[in-house]
Amino acid sequence: MNNSVLVVGSVAYDSVKTPSGTRDNALGGSATYFSISASYFKNVSLVAVVGDDFLEKDFALINGKDVDTSDLQRVKGKTFRWQGSYDFGDLNQRETISTDLNVFADFKPILSKTNQNAPYVFLANIDPELQLDVLEQMVIKPKIALLDSMNYWIDNKFEALEKVLRRINILILDVNEIKEFTSKTVIEEATQFIQEHYNVEFIVVKNGEHGSTLWSNGLKFNAPPYKVAEIIDPTGAGDSFAGGFTGYLTKLQKTDLQTLKKAMIYGNTMGSFAVETFSVDKLVKLSISEIENRAKSIMDKSNI
Ligand code: AMP
Repeated sequence: MNNSVLVVGSVAYDSVKTPSGTRDNALGGSATYFSISASYFKNVSLVAVVGDDFLEKDFALINGKDVDTSDLQRVKGKTFRWQGSYDFGDLNQRETISTDLNVFADFKPILSKTNQNAPYVFLANIDPELQLDVLEQMVIKPKIALLDSMNYWIDNKFEALEKVLRRINILILDVNEIKEFTSKTVIEEATQFIQEHYNVEFIVVKNGEHGSTLWSNGLKFNAPPYKVAEIIDPTGAGDSFAGGFTGYLTKLQKTDLQTLKKAMIYGNTMGSFAVETFSVDKLVKLSISEIENRAKSIMDKSNI
């Protein structure tokens, strides 16, 4: 029986500038961070595309985790590239310098029979038309479908994003993105709007270094952050959060409130590891005991 989490999203080479320095052409991408993070909890199948410049060592790194790459296509051309720079006074703010879709511009995902039957789907940040395409190929309705996106797609593919939103159970967005998507500045109003208009059951709002908040029908749960000694590079924190959150939920195969709250804490835990180094440097070499210890220290601070 297929029991894995299917993820579609970007696999990228990122160039970032933070107060700690710059790193060019480092392994990144929403689906990369998500897959590595979720793999500590659950087996993952990755649907994406890379170019012929994608390095063997990066393939090996992804394959070295519990990530099935049979639907990761490799085609002629350049891998997706993203360049960003963080506000040195406020690391929660960043500017995208460039987005080069490259091989993603003509990407057509083709799901294997096994992946068409995946019970859980995470639609990581990528063109919402690709997210829809993946949903269309599923032969069974996923038990849980989750969605993440970003300002680039809110600006460029709003209507397609709305269509995806109507087909998922859990939305995960950054606080700035949800405000932009709904054109509302008060978070309560923004989340309520999403629930009413798109019938999304749960909404998770990521608040950067301040943790994350779960919203559902008047319910609000704040998951406190783990304060790292130094944030080196915030890139991928959101996707790593989503990997921990989704990995934990799908490992337990439940969406009751207590499980969701714990999943939020595992999300914050995985996000905190991601920011301690550039790229996936730290995320890729964690031990289960490191993850459990950090999650426990957050749980001790929260009212669950
Ligand atoms: P996060 O910091 O969690 O929001 O995610 C950052 C990752 O998203 C980076 O590794 C980028 O490669 C990737 N990314 C940036 N812009 C886009 C985009 N428009 N579509 C898909 N992925 C993107």
